[in-house]
Amino acid sequence: MLRSPGALHNLKRALSMGVDVVGGIPHFERTMADGAESVRILCEIAADLGKRVDMHCDETDDPMSRHVETLACQTQRLGLQGRVAGSHLTSMHSMDNYYVSKLIPLLREAGVAAIANPLINITLQGRHDTYPKRRGMTRVPELIAAGVPVAFGHDCVMDPWYPLGSGDMLEVAAMGLHVAQMTGREAMRACFDAVTSTPATILGLDGYGLAPGCRADLVLLQARDPVEAVRLRATRLAVVRAGRVVATSPPAQATLDLPGRPAAVDWTLPRPS
Ligand SMILES: [Zn+2]
Repeated sequence: MLRSPGALHNLKRALSMGVDVVGGIPHFERTMADGAESVRILCEIAADLGKRVDMHCDETDDPMSRHVETLACQTQRLGLQGRVAGSHLTSMHSMDNYYVSKLIPLLREAGVAAIANPLINITLQGRHDTYPKRRGMTRVPELIAAGVPVAFGHDCVMDPWYPLGSGDMLEVAAMGLHVAQMTGREAMRACFDAVTSTPATILGLDGYGLAPGCRADLVLLQARDPVEAVRLRATRLAVVRAGRVVATSPPAQATLDLPGRPAAVDWTLPRPS
């Protein structure tokens, strides 16, 4: 569809109006060949204009949906390393293991990042299955182990595909953790990073992080460490933007009226000494 001169012209015009990232959805093209061609065209546009790429890619349970391979190949060909992300990549869940053993190193070599969207992936994938039903999320621990940056996104917040979102990235992290069975200490920490520092790197954000000179954009959580923040979906005590507090919430605390029990419950745990 992108081959029509009108569509290409409109896209280039939109990009010249201040768009930062080129997107696409190759698995929605009519044929695999058209999908691959759309990836090539979009990556060339991004390379020409110095933009990043976030390809909505292979959001299907079809193991033969392999546009991510083309995305990696075009990234390398055009020198876009470190500026390209493949979002969803759910077909990778169902792919042949031998093929994936070639694909993941290819992504690593090409510097392509992966973005899973756990809430929507676990809701939509496997819908055509009877039992057993596939989870459908992409291979998060395997990608991380290979050195591919993996972020978790929310994707749609409230729409016909997913009506239950609240924009809560801790909920996203918790769902990703459960679906990927990432319950080791380090793995749980990686799920927190997947909604904080990793996406900041993928987006190329300047001044991200807790260090002098960084932008003072941050969320203060009622939790003692990142794993506890995910476990409790910790209360957001304050949201700070450019050094100014723009939102606050009171700490979460329940009062109890039971004989012999504390009058208040705080779910955060003391630090192990
Ligand atoms: Zn989406």
